[in-house]
Amino acid sequence: MAETGTGRFAPSPSGPLHVGNLRTAVLAWLFARSTGRRFLIRVEDLDRVRAGAEAEQLAELAALGLMSDAAVIRQSERADHYALALGRLQDLGLVYECFCTRRDIAEAANAPHADPGFYPGTCRNLGDAERARRRAERAPALRLRSGVDSWAIDDVLVGRFRAPVDDVVLRRNDGVISYNLAVVVDDAAQGVDQVVRGDDLLASAPRQAYLASLLGLAIPTYAHVPLALSPQGQRLAKRDGAVTLEDLADLGHAPSAVLAAILGSLELPTGSLAAALGVFDAQRVPREPWIVDPAHLLSTVARPAPEQSAPTDKVHP
Ligand code: GLU
Repeated sequence: MAETGTGRFAPSPSGPLHVGNLRTAVLAWLFARSTGRRFLIRVEDLDRVRAGAEAEQLAELAALGLMSDAAVIRQSERADHYALALGRLQDLGLVYECFCTRRDIAEAANAPHADPGFYPGTCRNLGDAERARRRAERAPALRLRSGVDSWAIDDVLVGRFRAPVDDVVLRRNDGVISYNLAVVVDDAAQGVDQVVRGDDLLASAPRQAYLASLLGLAIPTYAHVPLALSPQGQRLAKRDGAVTLEDLADLGHAPSAVLAAILGSLELPTGSLAAALGVFDAQRVPREPWIVDPAHLLSTVARPAPEQSAPTDKVHP
């Protein structure tokens, strides 16, 4: 089948991927492949980078059979592309300097009726003289002069989802381009028309789609998938126990067993990615978070191997 369209997994190289991250990667691959798309891996290393983590993450993904169909790109090497997009928004008169500190923003957000985390536009209309004075004290961040209060996206799992869109940061005051702008520029540049990622990023999707529309870029299809949580209901983390491939290997569990646990949690055949792909149905992706108890992670994999039956057999009734 000729491939049309592109999906991706875009980890930040801040440390090893845990089984929750790997499950999201598996889902991104299944969504891409089941819809005839390419699958790309992108390294989002503008922030939160730990030396060696990129190679470690790529090796972890490869150990599960997840490889990029094209060269892996790194955000740290794409400053020119981001500058171009920022320039376009500047030409449209949609960028302004913001001198607020985190504390200024937190205090403004404490005002009655303020939406927490929502930038109230403090620096939107500063005069030239005031801006010159403030610039001498503090390097400005650059913000989008948003023309909307909210924006809606369509998500394969969540449905129509609308969220507030504020004057999002485009470039931080340390000169680093913001995640929200970079992700929009990169997805468009790589032809990504399907974004599958953890649902912790659902609230960011409308502002990213809005940014894409301002830049004249196509809006991708979204699928925000449930995260993995610890038994205490917190987002799964390395400190919760043996939850990385490396830790699990130390306990004698091969990557194939971890993949089986991940596929089992998705109620898919556990024998291989190919077998899971044979029956994958986006509408059957579990909508609840995956609760991971590291002590029992690998004991839950005692499923038969349905891939030995005909590929057209559905595991679901
Ligand atoms: N780099 C982001 C993360 O690791 C994911 C961004 C995305 O998929 O859009 O959380």
